[in-house]
Parts: sequence; structure tokens; C-alpha cells
Amino acid sequence: FYIVSLNDISGLVGLQTLLQQEKDSLEEKVSLRTIELQKEIQRKKVIQAKLESMVYVDYLTGLPNRKHFNQKLELFMQEISSKKSYDFSLFFIDLDGFKSINDTLGHNAGDELLIEVAKILQKSVRNNDFVARLAGDEFVILVDQIREKDDIEHIGKNILSSMSQPITVARNHKISISCSIGILMNPSKDLDKYTMLSLSDRAMYRVKENGKKSYCFFDECMFEEFHQKVDLMKKIDDALKNDEFYIEYQPVCNQEGIILSCEALARWRHQGQNISPFYFIPILEEKGLINSFTYDVIDMVFRDFENGLDVGSVSINFSAFQFYDTKLLSFLKEKARKFPHFTKKINFEITEGVFTTDPELVHDKLTTIRALGHKIYIDDFGTGYSSFDYIRKYPIDVLKIDKVFVDEILEDEKQYKLLKGMLSFADSLEMSIIVEGVEQEEQVKYINALDIDLRFQGYYFYKPMTLENLFKMI
Ligand code: C2E
Ligand code: CA
Ligand code: CA
Repeated sequence: FYIVSLNDISGLVGLQTLLQQEKDSLEEKVSLRTIELQKEIQRKKVIQAKLESMVYVDYLTGLPNRKHFNQKLELFMQEISSKKSYDFSLFFIDLDGFKSINDTLGHNAGDELLIEVAKILQKSVRNNDFVARLAGDEFVILVDQIREKDDIEHIGKNILSSMSQPITVARNHKISISCSIGILMNPSKDLDKYTMLSLSDRAMYRVKENGKKSYCFFDECMFEEFHQKVDLMKKIDDALKNDEFYIEYQPVCNQEGIILSCEALARWRHQGQNISPFYFIPILEEKGLINSFTYDVIDMVFRDFENGLDVGSVSINFSAFQFYDTKLLSFLKEKARKFPHFTKKINFEITEGVFTTDPELVHDKLTTIRALGHKIYIDDFGTGYSSFDYIRKYPIDVLKIDKVFVDEILEDEKQYKLLKGMLSFADSLEMSIIVEGVEQEEQVKYINALDIDLRFQGYYFYKPMTLENLFKMI
């Protein structure tokens, strides 16, 4: 409060000026602070947008990532209401042989390649088509509003041809790459987004099975196959509880047919039908049940030995997942402690694929398994890996030459020479050899003519059989 006398007018005017000045300075401060705050909010918005975009962008290629793709697919699905099927198509793209590029040229080259592939894919489609990277070397494209199959095929061909141009990575390495494409065209409206992705993935696998570097539409018959798989996935838990699995033994013999050892092959008999291990093993793997399943197989073989099975040895198939099983070694040690006289009779088959995973882990586990007295077989030798260097580095006893090297030796001289090369290669490494998939007498003659010490496994000599039949056979 100011106490002012009326005759002190000049004092009053002075006070008014003072108050006005204070007001002006306060307003100025407020407006400055407002500008500052606005700037601060703007800056935070930019950061927020950047963070949000990082959640939706693949860090390597700059393409939308899986999360973004899921969101986009949902949007596509919401946009259509009245029609029976959606009018977009889903392309699932997987590079062929990407792993071996990573293995031979290194991960940096692999990354460079993925960046180039992302660019190629974006250039191969229209601007409004949505290209995303799901993971690793898997990409997807959402192609909107093309209803003619020919036009969709045209896009597939376009991607394949753009991809066939050499790509330069690791400074000056020119490499050729190809891809396999599964296409789900105008999916039915009953499908959810996960099923759509699975179906296009399934179609892509069909391309891989048929020799890669092509495209394939997901069709009705594959839909049937897909449902069968889903059905089997549901049934497999009960099948394990109900003991629907058992083993058949396929003898391995010399050229006279004398049985020297056997391979244990898992069987699933379900409601009067035999389901192939080619179907149920991947399901067990997918469901995370393969480790306990293998324990069951090992148990069964030990039990059969206890019950008088009289062959030199039995080999059991390992899945690549087995190497990540932390309890495997203690399980095998316990078996070796309990059944020391049978342990040396049990061997394990692994495929070349395991050497591409975790070299140290695989090496350590194989060394320990071997120290227990088991031998290590390489199954389907020659089909899985581009480098044979692993033979030098890992403890391996037996090579099982895959059936593909035997299949056409009678018709195709080159194929025969290839088999000859494979066998002398294995022989020079002083490995034991088993030739798989021998079906005809002539094939046996041709192989014997090469004069290499080996064993045979194939329908010409013996098919897989129950323990009972094996007893009779022996
Ligand atoms: P594999 O280990 O390569 O086993 C050989 C497969 O070839 C067996 O098929 C056998 O029946 C078949 N075979 C043997 N000789 C011939 C022949 O002369 N001609 C033809 N056409 N085929 C022949 P199967 O029993 O259907 O097994 C398929 C695959 O399933 C096996 O291939 C193996 O990878 C896997 N598998 C089987 N049992 C088990 C198991 O207990 N555990 C794991 N992880 N995989 C298993
Ligand atoms: Ca095998
Ligand atoms: Ca095999």
C-alpha cells in the first residue's frame, strides 16, 4: 500500500510510471518464457516422434519392421468391410543361401547385402506397396488392390529378376543372390493376420523344397496341409502321453547283407495311420518337446539292449536343438553310469547344419559325448553345408553319404563320378563310411566297383523294421 497525499500529484504520476514499467517487464518475461516453453515442447515432440519411429523402423535397412508391418496389415484388414476376401496380397520373401554368405564373407557383408536387398525390393514394387523386414533375411511386401493373378505373378518375376543382378558387398566382392517367394493372394476374410503370415511362409517353404529361386502361390491344397499340421500339433501332446511313439530299426550291413549295426528311427502310429517323422519331428521341435522326446528314444534303445538286442551298435538321430539342451550331458552321463556295457553301442547322428550354429558349444558337447564312449555320425553328408572344414575341427567318426548321391548313378555318369569323388574323399580322411538309400542291386555293383571299404543302408538290403522283426532277421 502506498499512502499518497492529494497535493503530491507528481509522486502519484511517478508511481503510475513505476507500476507500468513493472507490468511491461512482467509481460515481456511471460512472453519470453512462453516462447521458450513452446520451443521446449516442439523439441520434445521431435524426440518423441524419433523414438516412436525407431520402434517401427528396422535399424539396419530403414524399412518398416515387424511391428509396423503388423500394424499396417491390421489397417489393411480394417479398410474392407463388405467383401468375402481381402483385396491385397502378401509376399513372403526369404533369401537363398544367406547363411553361407554370412559364414564365408562375414556378418558385415551380410548386413550390407540386406541393405541392398531392401533397396532392390523397394524398387521392384509400386510406391504405395508396403515393404518390411521381419527378421534376418526375411522380408514381406503388402501389395494393395491388384486382383489379377497375372499381375501378381508379374511382381514376383520382377523381384526375382531384380534380385539376380550381382550385388557388391565387402568393398569389391560381387555376389549373386536369389530368393524364394511365397504369395498369399487376396486372403479369405476368415484368416487372422498371424495365419496369413504363416500361410505365405508355408508357400515360401514350398519354393525352397522345390529348389529355391522362384515364387509359389499358397493354394487350397496347401491350406489342407496347413490344417493337418495344426491338427497334428494339437494331437502330439496326447500322443506322447498315450505312448503312440515307438522305434523301428533299419539295419546297416556289408555288401553281403550281414547286419553290422542299426539306425533307430522314430515312428508315430496314430488312429491306424503312420505319420512320417518328416512331419512330426519338426512339430516336436517347434513345440519345444524334442529334447524329452530324444531322451525317450535313448531310453527305448537302452531298454532294447537290455532285452537282448544283439547288434554291434545303434545310432540315434539328434536334432540341432539338442545342442542347446543344458541337461543332455548329465542325462547321457547318468545313462553311461547305469549301463556302462551298452554305452559304447550307442552312437549319435547329427546333420551338417549344427556346425553353422554355435561352433564352440557344439565342439565342447561333441567332445564330451565322445569321451563317454559314443561315436558321432554325420547324417545326410554332403547336403547341408558349403564348407567341409568342420571335418578337421570336430570329433567325427562316421560319414553317412546321403541318398541324393546314389539316386541316379546308373543313369547319369556325372552323378557316379560325383559319388566316387565323395567316397574317396571320405576314405582319404580315414572316416568310416555308410552309403544311404541304396535301392537296387545294380547300384550296389557300381559302388562295390569303386573298391572302397564301406557299409550300406537302404531298402535294397533292409527296410526299417520293428524290434520283433529285427530279432527274427538276426
Ligand atoms: P534320416 O536320418 O536320413 O533317416 C533315413 C531315412 O531314409 C528314413 O526315413 C529311412 O526309412 C529312409 N530310407 C532308408 N533307406 C532308404 C531307401 O533305400 N530308399 C528310401 N526312399 N528311403 C530310405 P524315415 O524313417 O521316414 O525318417 C525320416 C527322417 O526323420 C530321418 O532321416 C531323420 O532325419 C528323422 N528322424 C527319424 N527318427 C528320428 C528321431 O528319433 N529323432 C530325430 N531328431 N529325427 C528323426
Ligand atoms: Ca539318420
Ligand atoms: Ca540320412
